[in-house]
Amino acid sequence: MRKRVLILGSTGSIGTSALLVARQIPERMQVVGLAAGRRADELARQAEEFGVTHLCLADEGRLCELRGGGRQVFGGATGLVELVEATSPDLVLVAIVGVEGLQPTLRAIELGCDVAVASKEILVMAGEVVMNAAREKNVKILPVDSEHNAIFQCLEGHRGGSEEVRRLIVTASGGPFRTWPREKLVEVTLTDALRHPTWEMGRKITIDSATLFNKGLEMIEARWLFDLPMSKVDVVVHPQSIVHSMVEFVDGSVLAQMSTTDMCFPIQYAVVWPERLPNKLPPLDFPALARLEFEAPRIEDFPALRLAREAGEKGGTLPAVLNGANEVANAAFCAGELSFPGIWRVVEETMALVPHESSQELEVVVSADREARRVAKELTKRG
Ligand code: NDP
Repeated sequence: MRKRVLILGSTGSIGTSALLVARQIPERMQVVGLAAGRRADELARQAEEFGVTHLCLADEGRLCELRGGGRQVFGGATGLVELVEATSPDLVLVAIVGVEGLQPTLRAIELGCDVAVASKEILVMAGEVVMNAAREKNVKILPVDSEHNAIFQCLEGHRGGSEEVRRLIVTASGGPFRTWPREKLVEVTLTDALRHPTWEMGRKITIDSATLFNKGLEMIEARWLFDLPMSKVDVVVHPQSIVHSMVEFVDGSVLAQMSTTDMCFPIQYAVVWPERLPNKLPPLDFPALARLEFEAPRIEDFPALRLAREAGEKGGTLPAVLNGANEVANAAFCAGELSFPGIWRVVEETMALVPHESSQELEVVVSADREARRVAKELTKRG
């Protein structure tokens, strides 16, 4: 079957990898729509190459650069939802940084389209809403994040759930500061933090990988995707990023998924699932690898995992608050307005200040997200 795929965030790191996959398996993947934030020129180039006529750009000031040639162009706050409706794809790949992908994801589910999720923030903020909607509509949520894609693969052929799974073991590279002493972390610069040891990714996720908030978000994402309590989600540091994650079953058996570090692997898997297709990616060369190492994360020095566990366990609006505050603090660090350890402080203080609600109703989490961003901005200003 040739899947009709809509790519939200096509000009980004995941989006361009998805287009690489589309070039390699044109008989299985047809791109039917593309969306980006600001880069109108790149979006137009992609549309030309893939013969795509349905586009969306968040920056409404540049929409005129895309019009013409029989194109249908959407923009503004409702543009992404309109693009989903206009293309009625088989699969929507959500690869936008942050929570902008939430509304189009919910609309896609409503319309019965499967969703490949790269944007972890939407499951962190509204995992219960998204997964319940998907179950109701019998829509498949396919994880693209390499860790969750690995767990998804390890669980194939198993019922999953608490009765079979003892724990999910999410691997973490440890980021660029894995071996830095705690007292040096205050000196971290943006350039240091953008130097990821194993993955090349967009800026926000690269900073999140350095603070370990990326792993924290992934713990909460895993909890929702695989419907397990937070107590069954563990993290282990694995600096080589070859084992993408593992599942330990109740009989003590552990399944791991391994491949070289390239996001084209999980993207292709999500697109052609439940099949497997050959690709041009290099196979693993075990003798050349020589060593696969594992170590415990430094939870005291990198508090992101502790905060994420607390948010995931308490649930309700706390994950949305953690996520919103982290987005603000991450951006403030990038703008030179906050120190690196300041990111953890702003998130922790915001979590303490924003009133907690146990509901995960959409309006409630959206309003908690808004409040978290307001509080985090205030805290950032105070330095
Ligand atoms: P990038 O910053 O590289 O790309 C983000 C994309 O989203 C760009 O195409 C950008 O457009 C677009 N965009 C931003 N705002 C909007 C909007 N309002 N409407 C439509 N498009 C928008 O990010 P990544 O590709 O690195 O990450 C995307 C998501 O995937 C994140 O949630 C990240 O956590 C997750 N992820 C990423 C991985 C990676 O390897 N990069 C791995 C696993 C998960 P423009 O270019 O015009 O600004």
